[in-house]
Amino acid sequence: MKIAQNHSALRYFVNILPILAILLFSSLNATPSNCETEIFKIDRDFLSSNFSKCEVLEKNSIRLYLSPEDNFVSNPSPWFAFRKSAHQEEIYIELFYEKFEHRYHPKISNDLINWKKIDMDKVKIEDNGKKVILTFKANSDYTYISAQEILSSAWYDSWYEIIRDIKNVTISELGNTSGGRSINKILIENDFENPYIFLIGRQHPPEITGAFALKAFIEQILDDNALSDDFLNNYNIISYPLVNPDGVDLGHWRHNLREKDLNRDWGFFSQIETSIIYDDIRKILNDNEIVLMIDFHSTFKNIFYIQDELETAGYNFAQAWLLEHSSDRNDYKFAIKPTKNMENGVAKNYFNSSYGIPAITFEVGDDTDRAAIINSSKNLANSMMRLLLENN
Ligand SMILES: [Zn+2]
Repeated sequence: MKIAQNHSALRYFVNILPILAILLFSSLNATPSNCETEIFKIDRDFLSSNFSKCEVLEKNSIRLYLSPEDNFVSNPSPWFAFRKSAHQEEIYIELFYEKFEHRYHPKISNDLINWKKIDMDKVKIEDNGKKVILTFKANSDYTYISAQEILSSAWYDSWYEIIRDIKNVTISELGNTSGGRSINKILIENDFENPYIFLIGRQHPPEITGAFALKAFIEQILDDNALSDDFLNNYNIISYPLVNPDGVDLGHWRHNLREKDLNRDWGFFSQIETSIIYDDIRKILNDNEIVLMIDFHSTFKNIFYIQDELETAGYNFAQAWLLEHSSDRNDYKFAIKPTKNMENGVAKNYFNSSYGIPAITFEVGDDTDRAAIINSSKNLANSMMRLLLENN
């Protein structure tokens, strides 16, 4: 009897092996297995994709639940990004924001590079923005739908490949995040004894308009002309353009993998991302001077947060820099908001209070015209270079 029992136990184990294998495989697979009907399916198998749950409503209708990466996200940028298969009939995809409200007008792409806004009449907002229904006519290709253009770590990597060949540019990896992604540094340096300017980006994953501005800003500094040559003979640039690569690649709304807002951690350095960068900054500070920090973000409108009047150096620099652009304002209208330093872990406050330098948060509007962002950012880079050379 004992032998027979062992046999049946073995047979039982052999029988459940395929089931175990399927369970293991589906737990590794990022897309819920039920996100499919007879006529179309949805997945999130690409960088920066995100939705939290999928529910099939009808054969031509799927609901996607959208929620932040953890329960501590208090300043929501409700990101979503998914891919849908081809379909031969009209279909409906419902975005269901459990506790939050719709913010980003959905964009569509076939190649993750060229994006356009989905037509207004195909986007129906209901329940005060808690629910949005997207309608898609029959389509023969896979298409990506996203809150904003997708600028994942791959976008930064292709940019690094282009600029790393430019004279005096060094791209290096400073260390890895808890998700195993690298924190990279762009160094533009002619003479290591010259003073340094810090440019920081993408602490908050959905803030891609700030990333467009940072890239254009650096490209203008690298442009081969008399002003940038003169500037780079007198100043060096250090940029950490992607401070939160885990959050960016995982489609987070705000935080890193440790449920923290990195722009509340400067001065505390409790997170791996900020401490990797702080170690690098300390090496510079041993022998060199730093003169300016600009931190690129996005919000509803174009805003520059600067020091208040009591912090004279920061206030005067920002006024001189930004007011020169009053003539650009038709293209790129912006507000200048002086704010008091608080010890709240915001990069702007930390850099100003710790090093006494002008420190500015460069906020770009979510919907600001993309060409205007690039154009104004290049103009702002030029006037920063002129101003720093005058002050030299
Ligand atoms: Zn931000």
